[in-house]
Amino acid sequence: MSEPSLSDLSGLCLACGLCCSGTVFTHVTLDADDKAKLQHAGKELTNDADRINFPCQFLCGSTCSAYKERPKTCAEYRCETLIAAQSGKIGLDDAHQKIASVVALNDKFIRTLPEGIDVTTA
Ligand code: SF4
Ligand code: SF4
Repeated sequence: MSEPSLSDLSGLCLACGLCCSGTVFTHVTLDADDKAKLQHAGKELTNDADRINFPCQFLCGSTCSAYKERPKTCAEYRCETLIAAQSGKIGLDDAHQKIASVVALNDKFIRTLPEGIDVTTA
């Protein structure tokens, strides 16, 4: 099985976004370099703390609107499905199916929440 390209792998994340939405993690921690890079690109943080709380202010649908300036932790993170697809342990189609089923399950869960409660406070 040939190794998927970076663009194939980023397609998985573009179909997902769950690690930025507050579904899997609550926040990402920023260091001084992360903050400077975002600031230099005109990406103002909505709080002064050394973290971005999720859902991330830069998440648009399932796309990162600060992709080039994203914090190092974001750039380095890979979920297990992404790692398995990257290493060829599972095929790209399988990876897409896994992601699609998790996204669908999450959407279903969100629809069960009472009005005014979001996934980050449930
Ligand atoms: S790293 Fe995994 S959980 Fe995060 S957006 Fe990509 S596919 Fe989804
Ligand atoms: S900066 Fe981009 S990659 Fe990082 S959590 Fe926010 S939306 Fe996700």
